[in-house]
Amino acid sequence: MSLDQNPKDLVRKTPKRINLEDYELTKGLGEGAFGKVYLTKHRSSDALYAFKQLKKNEIIKSHQVDHLMNECYILYSLDHPFIVKMEGMAQDQRYLFIIMEFVAGGELFKYLRRVGKFNKFQTSFYAGQVALAWEYLHSLNVIYRDLKPENLLICANGYIKVADFGFAKVVSARTYTLCGTPEYLAPEVILNKGHGKAVDWWTLGVLIYEMLVGIDPFNDPDPMTMYQKILKGALRFPKSVDSDSKSIIKHLLESDLSKRYGNLKNQAQDVKDHRFFDHINWQSLEEKAIQPPYVPQLKSSTDTTNFSAIGKIDDNTVPKIPPSSDPFLNW
Ligand code: AMP
Repeated sequence: MSLDQNPKDLVRKTPKRINLEDYELTKGLGEGAFGKVYLTKHRSSDALYAFKQLKKNEIIKSHQVDHLMNECYILYSLDHPFIVKMEGMAQDQRYLFIIMEFVAGGELFKYLRRVGKFNKFQTSFYAGQVALAWEYLHSLNVIYRDLKPENLLICANGYIKVADFGFAKVVSARTYTLCGTPEYLAPEVILNKGHGKAVDWWTLGVLIYEMLVGIDPFNDPDPMTMYQKILKGALRFPKSVDSDSKSIIKHLLESDLSKRYGNLKNQAQDVKDHRFFDHINWQSLEEKAIQPPYVPQLKSSTDTTNFSAIGKIDDNTVPKIPPSSDPFLNW
């Protein structure tokens, strides 16, 4: 994919309306802030999807309607191999449904915690996909703002997809909303100075560190101490981290925005050209032609054993989808 170095704002498409009666919810996959995510089967084609079921009254009560619609419009308008594809939306009296491709291998987070840490190749394989997703999103002036291993899902083929666009925003300049996950907050976000695309490159630095070391770089049980560490850039590396890895992490976890990789004149190219990624052929990565370091074991196409026990839904409580009645997107 050749990307324009001069970003143009994402053209927002209106999500396709999906007919709920055509689908059958089968199993629970997980739980997010406003509702549950189900594995869903299209009745006539048997194709599988993930349905995010969100409680409308809770979204309205917490004044998140615009925010959520923003997420849906952004996600529906994106098209990239390493970003989860949204198929459409539906709603009934109580729920709003976001229909996405089903990513069968579960969260990268769960796999990382199981194995402890990744080697350099495996880390660069996942980090490279995130770097390509950032390059694509930033070319459309979209910032993601919530990178963490929980938001990366592993596909059946071992490649990953960025999911959960709840904090994504189309922004050409700076924005001021405090958002993100404490461990992954960039200094400019903590200082509330206004932030832009550079935050995504900071979070990539945190992710690379966490994948190589098994724990995030500024971890501390006390959030205030953690923020102090982030602001001071107090980075410590275990001996196991080699010099190429240290170097890319330092270039990304750079509090001076005029020096942070990804935020300089060459944008994503500086990150891609760094020697940490020497073993990654970018075109092969994008074409998914590199043998993945790990391929999830799946017993069948509906195997959901890779999904976290946290927030797991009792399969006996899977609701029947009631027929839709509201006009689309009429709250
Ligand atoms: P979210 O509300 O986006 O945080 O999703 C909650 C959980 O549901 C995630 O952590 C995943 O375990 C699961 N999930 C979300 N989207 C998908 C998807 N497209 N395919 C498979 N599982 C998903």
